[in-house]
Amino acid sequence: MEQTQGQEQGGTTASKQGADTQTQAYPNTDAADDMSRSTTPVLVVTPHPDDAETGAGGTIVKWAKQGRKIVLVVCTNGDKGSSDPEMTSPKLAAIREVEQREAAKVLGVSEVVFLRHPDQRLSDTYELREQISRQIKIHTPHTVLTIDPNRPYIRHEDHYVCGRVTLNCVFPYARDRMAFPEHNEEGLQPHKVREVYMWGSLDPDTFLDVTDTFGAKLDALSRHRSQVGQGWEQREARSRARYEEVGKRLGVTYAEAFKRIEVF
Ligand SMILES: [Zn+2]
Repeated sequence: MEQTQGQEQGGTTASKQGADTQTQAYPNTDAADDMSRSTTPVLVVTPHPDDAETGAGGTIVKWAKQGRKIVLVVCTNGDKGSSDPEMTSPKLAAIREVEQREAAKVLGVSEVVFLRHPDQRLSDTYELREQISRQIKIHTPHTVLTIDPNRPYIRHEDHYVCGRVTLNCVFPYARDRMAFPEHNEEGLQPHKVREVYMWGSLDPDTFLDVTDTFGAKLDALSRHRSQVGQGWEQREARSRARYEEVGKRLGVTYAEAFKRIEVF
């Protein structure tokens, strides 16, 4: 589900976020995407099927083409996303998994993990914290890519919970050995994520050129037929206009905008 407020607005900022993490502003260029990270793993955590494509599809394709292994974690099953009176939630959930797998293939994602929480009911629970921490420990990402939870007033609560819990799992749950003793018993080691990119930020500080991968982003988005099947032309036009606007910040055709946090 798309954000409802101007998600690509904002400027550069740098602010301390406690002793262990801080945000670091980069110039509005691809410098943030330096080659030292170019083959490290990435874990994408998305609230609903299609959110990651909407907010960061061009970047995911770009990173996959660089040789980075991308794993996509889908928190909810998207089973409320239809106004068709003939549709049922179980049927829709099944359709959306098929669509998500297709889209993930277009993005260059290696693996999709479905957590299958009901749409519109994602909560900050022990279960969700454990599930996302587990995926961080299994896939040992250098970079976690998720949605920015910091959106006041009108927002989708699933988006908030997904972003907020993912940040909490990056620090401290997946990093601390004692957070989930059951993981130790299974042989899962704590893992320290190095950086977080968040799409949908009201205060982005990192802008990536996705001109070369924008076609693949749209292709991936179009695979979510239950969501974009009707009115795709308008959706495509809206998407082009939005990311062209972001591209102007870099002097390129299309760019995506993120809030980036370096974890120390
Ligand atoms: Zn959504």
